[in-house]
Amino acid sequence: MPPPTRNLYASHEQNMTIKHEVEALLTRLGVPVTAYTGGDLTTRTPITGEIIAHVPTINAADATQAIAQAHAAFLEWRTVPAPKRGELIRLLGEELRAELPTLGRLVTIETGKILSEGQGEVQEMIDICTFAVGLSRQLAGLTVPSERPRHRMMETWHPLGVVGIISAFNFPVAVWSWNAALALVCGNAVVWKPSEKTPLTALATQAIFDRAAEKFGNIPKGLATLLIGDATVGQQLVDSPLIPLVSATGSTAMGRAVAPRLAARFARAILELGGNNAAIVAPTADLDLTLRAIAFSAMGTAGQRCTTLRRLIVHDSIYDQLIPQLKKVYGSVVIGDPGEPNTLVGPLIDERSFNVMQKALAEARTAGATITGGDRVLTQENPEAFYVRPALVEVAAQTNPHPELIKLVKHETFAPILYVLKYSDFHDALRLHNDVPQGLSSSIFTMNLREAEQFLSATGSDCGIANVNIGTSGAEIGGAFGGEKETGGGRESGSDAWKQYMRRATNTINYGTDLPLAQGVSFDID
Ligand code: NAD
Repeated sequence: MPPPTRNLYASHEQNMTIKHEVEALLTRLGVPVTAYTGGDLTTRTPITGEIIAHVPTINAADATQAIAQAHAAFLEWRTVPAPKRGELIRLLGEELRAELPTLGRLVTIETGKILSEGQGEVQEMIDICTFAVGLSRQLAGLTVPSERPRHRMMETWHPLGVVGIISAFNFPVAVWSWNAALALVCGNAVVWKPSEKTPLTALATQAIFDRAAEKFGNIPKGLATLLIGDATVGQQLVDSPLIPLVSATGSTAMGRAVAPRLAARFARAILELGGNNAAIVAPTADLDLTLRAIAFSAMGTAGQRCTTLRRLIVHDSIYDQLIPQLKKVYGSVVIGDPGEPNTLVGPLIDERSFNVMQKALAEARTAGATITGGDRVLTQENPEAFYVRPALVEVAAQTNPHPELIKLVKHETFAPILYVLKYSDFHDALRLHNDVPQGLSSSIFTMNLREAEQFLSATGSDCGIANVNIGTSGAEIGGAFGGEKETGGGRESGSDAWKQYMRRATNTINYGTDLPLAQGVSFDID
């Protein structure tokens, strides 16, 4: 029996084309028609593959001017007290609350992620606003004991300048908010270059910000600026001497291009790049919970999250119990219109993504792997949309996997492919786990305290995110988010990530009449 599927958009929204719905959503959000018609950037929805907008892009001269204006805005904004700056972000949070369903729906249409994930992304924006409002009263520095009598040492934190934000298609609005909410309370201006695949949600977010700014009143022009364009606009941010920090989210290939250019001018970088996330399933794992966690981590967002589970390392004693159940879930998961309530897997972003996935699967097949799923579905309903059944690739079936297969396993293919590996010794599992170039997210499923603690220890997972008994994806905003190695080393969102958006000054104040020098150095001019 063929697996259940859902009909595509056109069949469930009566009397309205998807393009009309997009126009209605953008109008409601306050985006002017001129911002998404008549332009050179063609935007398609992955739901049906049809064109939904033609967005004008910015030229190099106008981008340069916009960056200069953002710099001028920064010079003013840095003098506004931080708690007052927090009030702007409080208003932004309120506007986002009011538009959660609208913006969430637009995220679904533009990226193809299911509605609850689209809305979840907007919830994440609201959460970081709440966090940043509190932060605006806590940008505190240390007081440090001075070794000299009648001296006081302290740290002060100051705004940095214009923060450049480059974002990827798969979190088209949340990544902006993680950066912008913190950067703005820290007293910076922001300039945003969103993915060329998701300009509409960026325009909508900017319109929502503008609404908050209007309520706040007296915001310097250009404080938060949106520049729509391709990678060349991103490069302008990277190369601009007026931008002391660039936060860039995207592929490792993008990071490789961006990092040396930033380093060449000693600019700061927050790099949030590709992941190749793994989970170890130990013999004592709660298999019901594990199965559910794997399903969300590996198939959620159609495998297009940086934190998507891409490698499953299963103990051989439970392999034959877990994998058949997993295959069953993979075979029955509902694929289709992401706006339908029962759908769990929406479309891939575009044909290129589909081709990249099929190429990896073909190579794995040639290298002798056993593959379940991975086939294209719903082609007849709309040939221009790319829906796939998520794929399980059993590397474990081979005792000595083919070198090509090992190469594939170590590479991030940004699609729903889960490589399944087997282990018998826990230390081998840890070695396999860390033996990839990327270091973003990781999990262990175990009820064994020693295994769990070792996984979290210095000799355990080498990732920026290490979890126990939950999946690799779906982080909360309260923690610092990011990863090691080829993931770029950046941290954004919660914890003390705000410090990267400010410059630290160490101050020493002498309130005595003598001038003792540090380390007892003597330099007497009498
Ligand atoms: P991408 O690298 O193709 O593009 C990301 C952004 O970088 C886009 O805005 C693009 O225009 C810009 N860009 C590309 N080359 C550039 C250059 N040379 N200079 C300046 N800007 C440039 O990525 P994508 O396909 O949109 O997103 C998927 C990738 O992003 C995956 O690898 C995924 O793992 C990664 N990602 C990482 C995180 C994270 O937090 N670590 C989050 C989301 C996505």
